[in-house]
Amino acid sequence: MSQKIIVQKYGGTSVKSPERIKAVASRIRSYTEKGYSVVVVVSAMGKTTDVLIDLAKELSDNPSKREMDMLLSTGEQVSIALLAIALHEAGIDAISYTGSQIRMMTDGNFSNAKIANISTDKIMKSLSENKVVIVAGFQGIDEDDNITTLGRGGSDTSAVALAAVLGTRDCEIYTDVDGVYTADPRMIPATRKLKEISYDEMLELARLGAGVLHSRSVEFAKKFNIRLHVRSSFSFEEGTIVMPMEEMVEKFIISGITAKQDEAKVTIRHIPDKPGISAKLFNALGEYKIYVNMIVQSTGHDNRASISFTVKKEDLKKTIEICTELNKEIGGSAVEAKENIAIVSAVGVGMLSSYGVAGKMFGVLSEQNINIEMISTSEIGISCVIDSMYAELAAKVLHKAFIEAN
Ligand code: ADP
Ligand code: ASP
Ligand code: MG
Repeated sequence: MSQKIIVQKYGGTSVKSPERIKAVASRIRSYTEKGYSVVVVVSAMGKTTDVLIDLAKELSDNPSKREMDMLLSTGEQVSIALLAIALHEAGIDAISYTGSQIRMMTDGNFSNAKIANISTDKIMKSLSENKVVIVAGFQGIDEDDNITTLGRGGSDTSAVALAAVLGTRDCEIYTDVDGVYTADPRMIPATRKLKEISYDEMLELARLGAGVLHSRSVEFAKKFNIRLHVRSSFSFEEGTIVMPMEEMVEKFIISGITAKQDEAKVTIRHIPDKPGISAKLFNALGEYKIYVNMIVQSTGHDNRASISFTVKKEDLKKTIEICTELNKEIGGSAVEAKENIAIVSAVGVGMLSSYGVAGKMFGVLSEQNINIEMISTSEIGISCVIDSMYAELAAKVLHKAFIEAN
């Protein structure tokens, strides 16, 4: 086995057809010819995962989460076998493994499982036999041998986790764009490609809706100091390197704008303004594994307050049920829900040392008469909840003010 291991991940569009799979095989060959030991992670072909979800929905509004994971994992199993066949045809020895075959152990949280550990034995043995190792992304198994999946876009995380356990710093994420841009190029034409971006900014962008990387993959990359190279499988251009902030040459005040539209806002008014009420509410949501993003509580008045927060749209129904039940106990007003919201955000490490970014952001939105319904900030990000009909406009004007103008 040659010494240098590289992990490469190819997303759905990169393996969407036999032609694209052949192109991936020939790219992999160029790495084996350079002496690399290659571990490849692949996603399901094209829109396969969406097609499988739609199929299940034709049978049930509320399919079992275990069976959904069983179903969705088949998409990646098809791709690994086809890529192995294409590599064999190109004269490269290769072997494919599902998540369970390499003991990609996760917790039992179906549809959003977290990786706990991975055995490297099989992979290292196959690499030592000079084989390209192909691993199915997005999937693992729990302690009871149930198949689990890591959440939409989770193949990125499978790849980075493999790079971590195999002890390599090199992980390439091949996709349909040639890097990380200052905004989603599908939404904003004037977007710019970033040569490099820090783990913290990328994590914040991914968390706030930049779909190019699964946020947990960036968390792992930061933790294990893995340089992620996000690049296109359709060209040979250099992409974007996600790296430690200290190693970066270029730093911007704002490096990205996002608009996230998969969350809904929940408001409960007139709740008692006393210790323990918020704890009760959010503990109850936590018990049902409901991920709460932004939370705003109003200043109390007449011993009553109101609280608003956002949850994933898919969790809205359950959230309303839980809050309505809890309301019987705490005596708040009826639960209000708004689905047509967007969270627009500006992210950049430069915010750590600049003044006035929040004021400028609110000003840019108000010039367009866009009402801000909630605000939240972190050290390197500012997010505003607005009506979803203004999502694209807001992202465009923020991009113009913070990125194009500089
Ligand atoms: P893959 O199937 O390869 O994992 P994804 O669809 O998950 O691909 O991610 C790539 C897509 O992410 C791009 O086509 C692009 O539209 C979208 N995207 C969103 N935000 C950004 C961004 N800031 N930079 C680049 N791409 C982005
Ligand atoms: N196939 C899965 C999805 O579509 C995982 C991935 O592509 O990363 O979400
Ligand atoms: Mg993806």
